[in-house]
Amino acid sequence: MRAELLLLAALAAAPAGAHDAGHSVTFKSVEGVRFSVRSSGASGPRVIFESADSDPVPEEWDTVLVQGVLPDPGVNLQVLKAGATDWETLSVHRFPGGRFWAKARTARAPGALRLRALDAGVRRSHEVEVFGIEVFVDQPQVPGGAPLPPRGPEDPSAPRPFVHARAEWGAVQPTEPYSPDPLVWRITLHHSDGRHTETLAESLDEAKFIQDFHQHGRGWIDIGYHFIVDPSGNILEARPEGVLGAHTLANNEGNIGIVLLGTYHPPKNDRPTQTQLEALVALGRYLVKRHGIDPESLKGHRDYKKTDCPGNKSYVAIADLRKAFAGGPVPVPPAKKRRTAKAPALISAAPDWDGAQRAQ
Ligand SMILES: [Zn+2]
Repeated sequence: MRAELLLLAALAAAPAGAHDAGHSVTFKSVEGVRFSVRSSGASGPRVIFESADSDPVPEEWDTVLVQGVLPDPGVNLQVLKAGATDWETLSVHRFPGGRFWAKARTARAPGALRLRALDAGVRRSHEVEVFGIEVFVDQPQVPGGAPLPPRGPEDPSAPRPFVHARAEWGAVQPTEPYSPDPLVWRITLHHSDGRHTETLAESLDEAKFIQDFHQHGRGWIDIGYHFIVDPSGNILEARPEGVLGAHTLANNEGNIGIVLLGTYHPPKNDRPTQTQLEALVALGRYLVKRHGIDPESLKGHRDYKKTDCPGNKSYVAIADLRKAFAGGPVPVPPAKKRRTAKAPALISAAPDWDGAQRAQ
C-alpha cells in the first residue's frame, strides 16, 4: 500500500480561538489544517499526514473535537496529546458533501496535540480540510447569572421575515427538554467557522451537520443558536425562539444567537454578502421590535470570551448593524481589497472590511 501526501502551503496567520466551547487549537497561530491525499490503490494502514505539535494548550482537556471536509471514508484520523504514548483514533461522523466531525477522548491533562491521518483504503486523490480543532473537559455546563437590564415594550405584531422551519432541514428533536427563556434582551452574532454555502440545499445540509456536531460532538441538547443566516440571505430556524440557547458560554440567558454560515476570518476571510446583511437586518429589526430589545445589546461572540467568532469580516459591521437594527440603513459590504497595481492612483479604493485596519 502506498499513499502520498502533500501538505499544502501554510495558511495565513490568524489569532487563536473561533469556537463556542473549549480551547481552539492552532498551529503556529493558524487555525485549521489542510492536506492532500493521493491513492496508489494499495491497502493497509499507513500514516499519510502528521502535523507538528500544536501551539501550547495550558488548560486541562480530555476531549478533542475536529470538524471539516473529509470526502473519502478511507481516511482515519488520530490525535496524540503531548506526553502521551498512544495515539487516539477519532470516531468520525459523516454528512453530505464530505462534511464531518470527529471526536476522541484522552486522559484529562493539559498539553498540545498532534493530528495525523491514516490511509485505510483511500479510493481517490483528494484534499482534506480541517476547519477547526477544539479541546475541552467533557462535563455539563453551568448556566451563568447575567443581570436582566431594562427592556422596551414587546410588539407581538412585529413582522417576522420568512424563516425556513427546522423541519425543512430535517432537524431531530432535542435530546432533552429545552429550558424556557421567555425574557429576551440581547442578541449575539456568531460565524459557523464552517462551510460557506452557495445554495439553500447546502445550507439545509450544513444546519443538519451543525445540529449533529452540537448534539453529539459537544454534547448539547440541540443546535446551539436560534437562527442561521446563509450567504444567499436565507434565514433558517435553529432553536425555537423562547428557549434557552447554547452559544455564548455563561451568557445564554435572554440571548438570541444568530450564526452566519461561513468563516469570516483569516485565512478563509469569507465576507458577508449584501443579501445576507439584508436578511440579518430584517431578522434583527423583527427581534428588536418583537421582544423590546435594545439594539445596542447586539454583540459579537468575542465580546464575551476569547474567540475569533464571529470573525473580523463580520465583527467590523457590528456598530452599523446596531444602527440598522434600530431602523438605520443596511450596511453595505465593501468590495475585496484590490491587489492590482493598475488601479487609478487618484481614485481611492472602497474601504476594506479588515478588522486590523479599523478600531474595534
Ligand atoms: Zn460564536
